[in-house]
Amino acid sequence: GSSNLNAKLVLLGDMGAGKSSLVLRFVKGQFLEFQESTIGAAFFSQTLAVNDATVKFEIWDTAGQERYHSLAPMYYRGAAAAIIVYDISSTDSFTRAKKWVQELQKQGNPNMVTALAGNKADLEDKRKVTAEEARAYAEENGLFFMETSAKTAANVNDLFYEIAKKLPRA
Ligand code: GDP
Ligand code: MG
Repeated sequence: GSSNLNAKLVLLGDMGAGKSSLVLRFVKGQFLEFQESTIGAAFFSQTLAVNDATVKFEIWDTAGQERYHSLAPMYYRGAAAAIIVYDISSTDSFTRAKKWVQELQKQGNPNMVTALAGNKADLEDKRKVTAEEARAYAEENGLFFMETSAKTAANVNDLFYEIAKKLPRA
């Protein structure tokens, strides 16, 4: 039968990893070379059709800076899904992503569908984090893994679509 689902989704990860750009690509089909950095958090919504159901994502795009860290639980608490984003050209951003994974494992909703997104996959010549390393880490931690590019749109819709498919149905 058909069903409609509202799902709170939060994006976490280092500042500059491309969280806002992934959301902008998914929601508006756009990309900005000079995306403004997020202050606090920003809200978006987008509905996806998955088989004969619809999933309305209520998306919280967080800032990522350490000084906003104390606000993060407000966004991930009660979230059905999280996307932890790093930049494949930055080992620091991958380290930061692992910290978010640990925090969600300790404090987050245990049934949360969590994805690890290696963004800026178009920057192959600047790559510092291999897909193999990230995939192995994701498997060990029960995360769903994809490399994405908000710039070229590669895997962006697929990422949200795969999350939508994994959400528990009422
Ligand atoms: P946020 O701080 O995680 O929200 O990151 P932003 O979305 O603001 O992106 C930071 C910078 O990286 C911006 O200049 C974006 O244009 C750029 N950027 C984001 N995604 C990509 C991508 O997939 N490829 C490339 N080459 N640049 C990207
Ligand atoms: Mg941002």
